Amino acid sequence: MIVADKKPLAEVLASIGKAGRVLVIGCDTCVAECAAGGRKEVALTASALRIALEKEGRRVEVREACLDRQCVNEFLPEAAEDMAWAERIVSLGCGAGVQALARFYPESDVVPGLNTQFIGTTVQPGVWVEECSGCGDCKLAFFGAVCPVTRCSKRLLNGPCGGSKGGKCEVSPEVDCAWQLIYDRLAALGLLARLREFVPPADWSASHSGRPRTIIREDRRI
Ligand code: SF4
Ligand code: SF4
Repeated sequence: MIVADKKPLAEVLASIGKAGRVLVIGCDTCVAECAAGGRKEVALTASALRIALEKEGRRVEVREACLDRQCVNEFLPEAAEDMAWAERIVSLGCGAGVQALARFYPESDVVPGLNTQFIGTTVQPGVWVEECSGCGDCKLAFFGAVCPVTRCSKRLLNGPCGGSKGGKCEVSPEVDCAWQLIYDRLAALGLLARLREFVPPADWSASHSGRPRTIIREDRRI
């Protein structure tokens, strides 16, 4: 899922500018799971804005809405009335959600209420970890399903670097060495021989550094 966190309230307030009708609109999928932009966070953000605006002596109406998925066009018409009403829209979707909403409603002034961070997993309540960089050429089969592109600070495909101490990364001692995790997992699976295989260079042209990417599935097009 996409993991994001909330922008500071002062930044959101500044992005509202002089608008008198503000819509806070969330997304009830990834950013709800990471407690940044779901229905509950929409209510909290809207309340915080109302209080802050009242303290400033401003008369601003703040409405709340939440879509099942802000990044999928099919769900966006549901917000039509609120979007038409608002002078400024604070999106609590991820960066893709903000852009999808703005593209679908070209007359609307949409600003982000979140800082989108990474593709990750919930490892325990309140803890999210980056697991995938969307490199476009997945090589997890070599690595016992631990991603060195994302979890090794040096992105080594033929690691380790040799600097790890006590199972921790030499670059970021607060995180586990990805190559230690890869070794431990392959050892537990009896697959250590896999480490003898040379991993061919990744096709980075398929990654974000190659170009902005689009996926087209002809069998799903209508
Ligand atoms: S190898 Fe690439 S696609 Fe696979 S998990 Fe790592 S970053 Fe994601
Ligand atoms: S210590 Fe481990 S995770 Fe850190 S850079 Fe070296 S191989 Fe990668």
